[in-house]
Amino acid sequence: MLEIRKKHSLIKTLFLTILELIYPEEDICFICDTYDDSIDEENICLKCKENLRFISDNKCSICGKPLQSDAVIKKCYNCKKHPYYFSKAVAALEYEGIIKEVIYKYKYGNKPYIYKALGALLVQAIRESDININDIDIIVPVPLHRFKIIKRGFNQSELLAKYISDAFNIPISVKNLIRSKMTVRQNNLDRLNRRSNIKRAFKIKKKDDFIGKNIILVDDIFTTGITADECSKELVQAGARDIIVVTLATGKSN
Ligand SMILES: [Zn+2]
Ligand SMILES: [Zn+2]
Repeated sequence: MLEIRKKHSLIKTLFLTILELIYPEEDICFICDTYDDSIDEENICLKCKENLRFISDNKCSICGKPLQSDAVIKKCYNCKKHPYYFSKAVAALEYEGIIKEVIYKYKYGNKPYIYKALGALLVQAIRESDININDIDIIVPVPLHRFKIIKRGFNQSELLAKYISDAFNIPISVKNLIRSKMTVRQNNLDRLNRRSNIKRAFKIKKKDDFIGKNIILVDDIFTTGITADECSKELVQAGARDIIVVTLATGKSN
């Protein structure tokens, strides 16, 4: 067992080393692929930064989605109707414009190194939010099914979670919450079918590890919140105290 674990961590270290090697030159923008002297260590040029749609203060206090009008009660229609297992969700950006292409390129274009630019945006969003980072015990990425990891080569949420874990020096847990059921892509399903598609897709191997813990759950996109909610349900049922969902981008509220 120990041998297997050693092998796993060796493969992981190797993978991250390879990732560093295939990393493009420093002065390139990961979003538009152009060279620019002004590019900082986040690898995003000024023009692209201006085009990103950061979430403003006019957002739902629960799911973090931008609200359509300047409402007095900061709660969207969905959050009034369906309570979640997580206490709140925070996103860096609206899932609009160039970030859609970047996330697609990151996930399906074999460009895992983009996680550094996206991770920096997430860290900035956490710093600007009301999350009390000192209260967080563990960072947990939304898991992918192992067949999908083999196909894609990496879990996009795990790399983002790793970036957050390193930035705040909080431990990451990647092998305990697992996706045990293969699910079809949620994009083309309505809310009801999304829920039944993802239902019981996740499992926790060692529940004791999450008892009494405050957790940041990391995913790339928040749409209906159903995936994050199913993961949160497992974590809460395992005894976790509080779950805050952090995603790179979030869709529009209802
Ligand atoms: Zn750019
Ligand atoms: Zn909401």
